[in-house]
Amino acid sequence: MAQLPTYDDVVAAAARIRGQAHRTPVMTSRTVNEALGAEVFFKCEHLQRMGAFKFRGAFNALSRFTPEQRKGGALAFSSGNHAQAIALSAQILGMPATILMPQDAPVAKVEATRGYGAQVVLYDRYTEDREQLSRDLAAKQGMTLIPPYDHADVLCGQGTAAKELFEEVGALDALFVPLGGGGLLSGTALATRALSPQCELYGVEPEAGNDGQQSFRSGQIVRIPTPQTIADGAQTQYLGALTFAIIQRDVTDILTATDAELASAMGFLAARMKQLVEPTGCLGFAAARHHKDQLQGKRVGVILSGGNVDLQRFCNLQ
Ligand SMILES: *Cc1c(COP(=O)(O)O)cnc(C)c1O
Repeated sequence: MAQLPTYDDVVAAAARIRGQAHRTPVMTSRTVNEALGAEVFFKCEHLQRMGAFKFRGAFNALSRFTPEQRKGGALAFSSGNHAQAIALSAQILGMPATILMPQDAPVAKVEATRGYGAQVVLYDRYTEDREQLSRDLAAKQGMTLIPPYDHADVLCGQGTAAKELFEEVGALDALFVPLGGGGLLSGTALATRALSPQCELYGVEPEAGNDGQQSFRSGQIVRIPTPQTIADGAQTQYLGALTFAIIQRDVTDILTATDAELASAMGFLAARMKQLVEPTGCLGFAAARHHKDQLQGKRVGVILSGGNVDLQRFCNLQ
């Protein structure tokens, strides 16, 4: 494998996104501290631009395009937060963006992505191969494909959230991070090993989609069918080659949370802290609550990774 990115690359990413990405707040709550018996620091990426940390990685990746690549623009396939992150970053940098989405993607997501100025191309997920389609688009129209997690610039951008967290609160005993394809967790790992090397670092997946846990424990990337879970941002079927290499080297363990725990954590954050966090964004907090017996008296970080859940869905899950 090519050389893995390092913390220096996270530092370089932080310089590129400065002034564009929000430096999101770190929140604390006496109620949470009492409930968990620990001192808990929430890194609030649900308050990031477009509502999730993914803006960090997308903006970092697009800002490194050559003039030639800028002309062709960025291409992504996603119906979730990565699509909006690429669309917004391209708009800010003044380049075209094309997003491939399945025909049955929620209308609100299609509209939101178009709202950021991207061209949305719909495809039939049962009859068309999106990888082939995106390769054709990239070749014919000179677009550059940016994958949602398995890309050095993307994962280093994601790592800037944890860099900010450690700079603000100092070393931690444990940090809980939502896990899908591993861009957020691997970038966080680079920052953690540099800034708080003794910190235990946990990735947290939906229980129904624990491919990362299986991969971590078996030592090779395990693929699973698309999991059924309310954590729609973590329905990935397998980790990336780059993200897995870093996770295997630097992460303490991979944990899981059930849909019931996610719904409960989401309700708690809304009722007690007035924070609207999407189900996937609650993975870290749900695991910290579940494992509180091991966290007594400790300093604990939790990344709240995103807040894009529509209110009707939020209500239906309560
Ligand atoms: C994409 C996403 C994740 C998972 O991130 P990976 O880099 O794929 O592991 C977690 N939470 C939210 C809100 C996301 O949008």
